[in-house]
Amino acid sequence: NKQVILKDYVSGFPKETDMYMTKSSIELQVPKGSNGVLLKNLYLSCDPYMRPRMTNIKGSYVESFKPGMPISGYGVAKVLDSENPEFKKGDLVWGMTGWEEYSLVTAPHLFKIQHTDVPLSYYTGILGMPGMTAYAGFYEVCSPKQGECVFISAASGAVGQLVGQFAKLLGCYVVGSAGSKDKIDLLKNKFGFDEAFNYREEPDLNEALKRYFPEGIDIYFENVGGKMLDAVLLNMKIHGRIAVCGMISQYNLDRPEGVHNLMYLVTKRVRMEGFLVRDYYHLYPKFLEMIIPHIKEGKIVYVEDMAEGLESAPAALIGLFSGQNVGKQVVAVAPE
Ligand code: NDP
Repeated sequence: NKQVILKDYVSGFPKETDMYMTKSSIELQVPKGSNGVLLKNLYLSCDPYMRPRMTNIKGSYVESFKPGMPISGYGVAKVLDSENPEFKKGDLVWGMTGWEEYSLVTAPHLFKIQHTDVPLSYYTGILGMPGMTAYAGFYEVCSPKQGECVFISAASGAVGQLVGQFAKLLGCYVVGSAGSKDKIDLLKNKFGFDEAFNYREEPDLNEALKRYFPEGIDIYFENVGGKMLDAVLLNMKIHGRIAVCGMISQYNLDRPEGVHNLMYLVTKRVRMEGFLVRDYYHLYPKFLEMIIPHIKEGKIVYVEDMAEGLESAPAALIGLFSGQNVGKQVVAVAPE
């Protein structure tokens, strides 16, 4: 059983060498009466929240990885054996699994995959945790209305590309920021954003936002934090909303940057609200009902960045923090 192991806790930018491959043996059978399931992993998901898990922080909302143990994360898998009444051999599932070929999961947090006429890898992205994040964050936290002006950072990624498309479906004016020309092309030509800009090429983010939002921003979907948040605060409309999904620009810093313009929350009466997708999984069936027809009719598209083989997983994961991924970063581990 090939596995990806975390070598030690990480500080600063993660490196490929913070992880290593190993091979161990595994009994391809679940111990009788154990409630566990044995999974053959097909696709693994690389997600930004995995970076804080590489650090030994007490009291975080996610548990730290254990040095010397396989990395864990979301994935799509096939059930090979089960002692759990909810799952049977042959079921396709998504949820928490290990960065390895086979995983014995003793307390399964898994969803059974019902719709198999869409790419299975989508259950790491649009039909999985990032999709639910975009759905809950936009519809439940942003209180969006037709015609509003919406800004999304890290807009071409797993979550952002969907938020933008949801906002377009509702009839909003949508602008995204991302870190390369290819990503800007995708935003405008594939996902249908009204405008997009490369934040790396803007000497003054405040000026850039004023250019695209002369009247101000109603909704900011926050994925990056730092300087972008400060610039956005200067450009919010009265009664605007900021949904704080994440702040990836801060995840590798030992001390987070300060935010200077928070007083604008008061003067512009802006509601800024953080959220975690885990509080919204009760909406998953409703979300699937909405999104599956949209995918089949081509009203929503999804771009994935597929790395091949478990060996490519460490590089794929750290690539999230330099923006190497174009779309949702997935690792294909085994053929379906
Ligand atoms: P992405 O697919 O968007 O990948 C991460 C992207 O972030 C990179 O491609 C890069 O794009 C951008 N990025 C990396 N470093 C920086 C930086 N220093 N400054 C600005 N941009 C940077 O990731 P996801 O869509 O999966 O996640 C987006 C956000 O949502 C993250 O903050 C994540 O933590 C959060 N999240 C929160 C959840 C919740 O429950 N609240 C659940 C899931 C995700 P670029 O080239 O554009 O710079």
